[in-house]
Amino acid sequence: MTEANTWRVAVVGSGPAAFYTAEALFKSGNENVQVDLFDRLPVPFGLVRGGVAPDHQKIKSVVRVYDKIAANAGFRFFGNVCLGRDIQVDDLNEHYHQVVYAFGCESDTKLGIDGEDLKGVYAATDFVGWYNSHPDHRNHQFDLHNAKRVALVGNGNVAMDVARVLLASPDELAKTDIAEHSLETLRKSTVEEVILLGRRGPAQAAFSPKEIAEIDAIDGIDVVISKKDAELDELSKAWLEKDGARSNQRNVDFCTAQAEKGEGDQKNKLRCRFLVSPTALAGDNGRLTGVTVEHMQLQADDTGTPRPRSVGTSEELKVDLLFKAIGYRGEPVAGVPYEERKGIVPNVDGRVVEKVDGPTRVGHYAAGWCKRGPTGLIGTNSLDAKETVVSMLADHKDGKLLAPGKTDIAAVLTERGIDAVSWQDWQRLDEWEKQQGESRNKLRHKLASVEELMAVVAELRNK
Ligand code: NAP
Repeated sequence: MTEANTWRVAVVGSGPAAFYTAEALFKSGNENVQVDLFDRLPVPFGLVRGGVAPDHQKIKSVVRVYDKIAANAGFRFFGNVCLGRDIQVDDLNEHYHQVVYAFGCESDTKLGIDGEDLKGVYAATDFVGWYNSHPDHRNHQFDLHNAKRVALVGNGNVAMDVARVLLASPDELAKTDIAEHSLETLRKSTVEEVILLGRRGPAQAAFSPKEIAEIDAIDGIDVVISKKDAELDELSKAWLEKDGARSNQRNVDFCTAQAEKGEGDQKNKLRCRFLVSPTALAGDNGRLTGVTVEHMQLQADDTGTPRPRSVGTSEELKVDLLFKAIGYRGEPVAGVPYEERKGIVPNVDGRVVEKVDGPTRVGHYAAGWCKRGPTGLIGTNSLDAKETVVSMLADHKDGKLLAPGKTDIAAVLTERGIDAVSWQDWQRLDEWEKQQGESRNKLRHKLASVEELMAVVAELRNK
């Protein structure tokens, strides 16, 4: 590859969407493509490292695919480099022909109801980051030691992860790569009951059939669903027939079977409630004591999708803690267009636009959650990234590119005194984490602060 014909692409983020973008570019048949991945953390892999639950190592093993992508001669990693702090969009414009935003959605969706700021009300995204040693979340405190009953709002797969970690035996989690600070707190936990609050019915539950069944199969936990909650309304029956997916039907079958099984004899319970939506949180002395839920019924919207509508009655649930698992949300990043309503980077087929219905920002693209919003499994990002790369290839062919005057961003980083973590640095750190884990009888020991991570990176460089 000579500098004159090198096609330079910057990808901001190093989670699944970023790696699948790099992969699609390397497979595009152009041997001169160079892909630089930037991450504000010293470590790669985004939500695979910081989101996927520690007891789901099989899902985490997807990083082997990313390791292969990183082995490509045109690949570079710049960890510990933050867009908006260490480098700006203008720097990327000056050094690359194309820029891809793949920074995901880092915040959480708010309920927007009274009492959300009470002590004992938590965002699942914070809990997930905390048990996964994400440096942003290491200092959160979760008062699990005085709590018995927990409400968990939303019934997606993040809620499943939270329920499992709250109710499963810490001894099992101890063998994984769970954060040490979290394990300590979980060992002192007195939580016995999690009430899952779904605003629609069992046919519209967002959990995967495999995820809910996995919880019921864990020693010490029963998934409990009342006959009333498992019952399907006429609209859902018709919707399942016509538009429901196979997984919707499997969820309904699971709920029906659980309702037949009854209460069970395990100590810890995950109670699934349906057609209930929180309207207010009650507190005493600034601490959560309960949640009011409105009873809902389903009505079809213009597209025929069943949507929840209040029936005008409500009930109070006494709970000690409440976790909101109602979705991630993207935040604006300096210099990057932002669509407030969806919390994404506005785009058409991955091509970034200045605003919805606005002009294209030539040479700028989006992939993954910051492109389409926080939905889908890891593999969904492969298709998503390929779609963006189709747009990138077409623009490359048509010469619709940025006109970079400079060649290597590494020189700028050095000039600014930014200690970027290379892929080789990460490989050494990866080995170190595994070795440290082995000596602690766990899979991996993850450090939970940027300072500690960078200190080990520096130490390993000097070896
Ligand atoms: P999700 O799947 O979109 O689920 C969000 C849940 O919150 C839904 O039940 C939704 O109900 C509910 N909700 C939203 N707004 C609400 C409100 N205002 N009040 C009450 N409930 C509300 O999101 P997620 O759980 O954050 O997961 C994100 C993506 O990552 C998903 O695609 C998920 O499958 C994936 N993921 C996968 C795994 C895995 O495979 N192991 C693990 C974690 C995450 P409605 O349906 O009524 O909107």
